[in-house]
Amino acid sequence: MLNYEAIDIPFNHRHTCWFCGEPSNAAVNFPSRPSAVLAHTPLQLPACQECKTIASSCVTDSVWDLQLQVTNALMKRYAKHLGIGVNWTKQELAETQLEGTSFKGFTDSAWMMYEIAKGRVDFSGWPLALNGVPLDIIDDSYGFEFDGARFINFQTAVDFYQKSESLNKHLFDELVALLGQKQLAYALRIARLYPSITKRQAEKVLAEIALQQSDKDAIFRDNSQTSPLLAVKAVCVEDVREVNIHGETAQPKAIVWVMSRNIRTLAQLQQCEDAFFDEHEHLGGVIAFQLYHGVQLYLEARQDINWCEQDDPNQPLWLGE
Ligand SMILES: [Zn+2]
Repeated sequence: MLNYEAIDIPFNHRHTCWFCGEPSNAAVNFPSRPSAVLAHTPLQLPACQECKTIASSCVTDSVWDLQLQVTNALMKRYAKHLGIGVNWTKQELAETQLEGTSFKGFTDSAWMMYEIAKGRVDFSGWPLALNGVPLDIIDDSYGFEFDGARFINFQTAVDFYQKSESLNKHLFDELVALLGQKQLAYALRIARLYPSITKRQAEKVLAEIALQQSDKDAIFRDNSQTSPLLAVKAVCVEDVREVNIHGETAQPKAIVWVMSRNIRTLAQLQQCEDAFFDEHEHLGGVIAFQLYHGVQLYLEARQDINWCEQDDPNQPLWLGE
């Protein structure tokens, strides 16, 4: 039997669960069994019954890891409640209540349930001390952090968002696989757009994203090359000739705009679409669109190297000659 010592409890946290901030009427003994690696006195932490139950099934040598595991278990358990705050604002909920009666029971308590759950998972205890001596226990727990929340790992985060926001599981899982850990925010943004999507529609969206990703990789490769095309930055409109593609025209001034920004692919152009229209809108929407459409066709034609060499009057400029 280990000799547990009760941690210090600040006055404002009397009767508070160290894990979730709810009223405590129980205690968690940590570690639950003797540990060879533990460098501090075994601790008795005040806890609510729910956190105590969760903690009893966690096996770990780190009190910080235990805290992370308990919080994540709460997040998993209350994912639906936590999702309310993502899907609704307090005001929207209040308005729904005014409109009809069928929602009433839900809206009356929904925001409260969200606030309670959010308060619990955001609570991070208080500094550990024994008899007035602070315990400097290094936080060695590994977690994946996203949007202010800390998850045991990346997959836990994915599962949490899927459940809390009722995201389409197939779409979200595939997006995550495609976009990876670093682009979770992007995967979430897309998945939120299509909460109920058929499998076929999902495949279409995924194909688009896959294409976008490969374009992005291509841009990265393009930009990482030391390109002779950097020389075209100094190009002036008199040197550029208009280009006709299937009866449509790419205008010199639009071509210069594109060349001077070192834009060489459609994907790059697309990324600068807003900037293009901002700069040309004074010409009127139709003309701005024609200019844009012209360079779009031009860059599309330039994907064909033979065309560039044989039919592009501006080829020397692109080559920086
Ligand atoms: Zn608790």
